[in-house]
Amino acid sequence: MTSKKCELLAPAGSIDALKAAVYAGADAVYFGGGRFNARAFAENFGPDGMEKAFEICRTYGVKAYITLNTVVTDREMNDALEFVKGLERSFKPDAYIVSDVGLISVLKRSFPDIPLHASTQMQIHSTLAIEQLKKLGISRVVLARELSRENIKAFADCGIETEVFVHGAVCVSQSGGCLMSSFIGGRSGNRGRCAQPCRQCYNGKYPLSLKDMCYASHIPELCEMGIDSLKIEGRMKSASYVYETVGIYRSLIDECRAAHDDEVKRLAAVFSRSGFSDGYYTGHKGSEMFGIRTESDKEISRKSTVSIEAPKIPAALKAEIREGCRAHLTAKAGVVEAEAFGSVPDKAVNRPLTREDLEKRFSKTGDTVFEAEKCSIELDEGLIMPISSLNALRRDALYKLKAGIIETNTPKRSGLPIHTETVYEKRSCFGRPEFVARFEGKIPGRSVLKKAFSVCGRVEVPLWSGLPEFYDPEKLSFCLPRTVFDSDTDDIKRLIKTAYDAGIRSLTVPNIGMLPLCEGFTVHGDFTLNAASLESADAYKRLGFDSVVISPEVRPDSVFKYFENGEYIVYGKTPLMHTENCIISNIRGCRKEASCKACLVDKTGASFTVLREYRHRNVVYNSVPTYLLDRLDEIKGASAFLLIFTDENQNDIINLLDSLKSPKPFEGSFTRAAYRKSKEVF
Ligand SMILES: [Zn+2]
Repeated sequence: MTSKKCELLAPAGSIDALKAAVYAGADAVYFGGGRFNARAFAENFGPDGMEKAFEICRTYGVKAYITLNTVVTDREMNDALEFVKGLERSFKPDAYIVSDVGLISVLKRSFPDIPLHASTQMQIHSTLAIEQLKKLGISRVVLARELSRENIKAFADCGIETEVFVHGAVCVSQSGGCLMSSFIGGRSGNRGRCAQPCRQCYNGKYPLSLKDMCYASHIPELCEMGIDSLKIEGRMKSASYVYETVGIYRSLIDECRAAHDDEVKRLAAVFSRSGFSDGYYTGHKGSEMFGIRTESDKEISRKSTVSIEAPKIPAALKAEIREGCRAHLTAKAGVVEAEAFGSVPDKAVNRPLTREDLEKRFSKTGDTVFEAEKCSIELDEGLIMPISSLNALRRDALYKLKAGIIETNTPKRSGLPIHTETVYEKRSCFGRPEFVARFEGKIPGRSVLKKAFSVCGRVEVPLWSGLPEFYDPEKLSFCLPRTVFDSDTDDIKRLIKTAYDAGIRSLTVPNIGMLPLCEGFTVHGDFTLNAASLESADAYKRLGFDSVVISPEVRPDSVFKYFENGEYIVYGKTPLMHTENCIISNIRGCRKEASCKACLVDKTGASFTVLREYRHRNVVYNSVPTYLLDRLDEIKGASAFLLIFTDENQNDIINLLDSLKSPKPFEGSFTRAAYRKSKEVF
């Protein structure tokens, strides 16, 4: 049993929401500064807003975390660093929430002592990732939302602070692993610009829309596990939502209890999508986790009234008004004390000051954040002072008290950057890139495999589908599943051992958490690592990846000029989502076979293939393939070109593999993905 108290961490998408969070009793808030945060459409804070936000947080002793959790490209890296330099100079946030390993490296180099929290965008599912996170300099991990009670528990007390989402919206794809908005509308979720395609209608229903999570009945258990911070989602939501939600979770944590029915009703009144779900936590996944925001939900929210009140900070005042001495007032709140001096009092001609006069005067804290909880007065007889002098004395003391509190609550570190620059050498000659064929879904027959092994330098198949009927052990690489929970680790270890015993020495790895499982193998990092800059590619190399597929969200020209082992997707339907729930069963019922398949059809008629992945998870693929085979000579410096095969027929695969030496223009619909744009942008 641990006695450590859980932090309550609240969202602040606007200054009003920030006030609401602070007033309702949050221990910490998180907010963004415009760019580089996963909610680009929240109001966020400009320079003035930042100053106000920090003033409020410091005054009330609430920690302030800055969200910097987007993928950062080469051309933005310097702006992101400058942004942090500004914050360090002025405010020294209590932590930065980050997800891009390139940015993490840059920040740790420049500011070795700033606290960094690994965003849920980093897709941390298992405790195996902790070692890697520590190497990166991360002090806290925000766990992936798909974790069950048991898998959350594994993280507690394992040497890194843990933060768990307990309330709010949930992505149907694992966070940080969703490219859907980016690929269908050019608005990248990994860049804070998600257009929420998961809330749209497909096949006449809403098979991707999850209800919001609510763990209000599990708070005592989470606190007892030793989780450090309980987090509420909602930087796009209103101040009323934040105030009500924070207020309720504040009571639950303080009283270490589950929510009462009326509290759950109040939570639903401020926002719900056909009620709440705790399916990931309890392990009861399935259709009950899904729901949309109905007219009746909206009606309930319209009727709900929340009045936000600013609490006052109690201050103890002590005044000394003595003959021949300057008037003296001290103000104390908690451990912080401030004092102010006024003029020397005059002799009273007729009506001298009384203790009551002074108490009344000094207790008039008015529009300050303070209330005088007690006021002790030492007063000599027969003195007089102008009211304006007494008011000025009070104002001065309270002003200094607030300044003292702000200073006390600001972290002590220099905030000065260390000037270290990594100089990367431009490569002068590029080797000939090889092709990599990846088969997702059904493993093809012998003739396709033979062709693939003859024309490609590497052929990738899912680890869980076992050895294909034909393979060259020198060229075969097994793809690990996108998600490996602690509860999956034993099974994955067993599969990896089988592969090793069969002479396979290459693995394709989608997540840093899986690195410790890959000893003795060449490790290829997948596009899911969101490597979008030279810094991130290089950071992955230092962690132990031998190569990295550069994010399909960027045009990677600048990376390839410097980085030797960068690969790029040049053909295939890019996986857009990786879901813990079976989407196939939401669309048309699932036969519970590994070969189950379905299509999501949106209102434009675009059809997105959905295939089963490891452990009945699903992958949603783009409706059209990426095709860059006719542009390969423009992608200079890539070490390999990745071809992803999903549901093509065998003849088409063979034809495509045959045409690699002299590719033709693609027949049918396709996308250039990030390559359609002239610059490295989104
Ligand atoms: Zn299924």
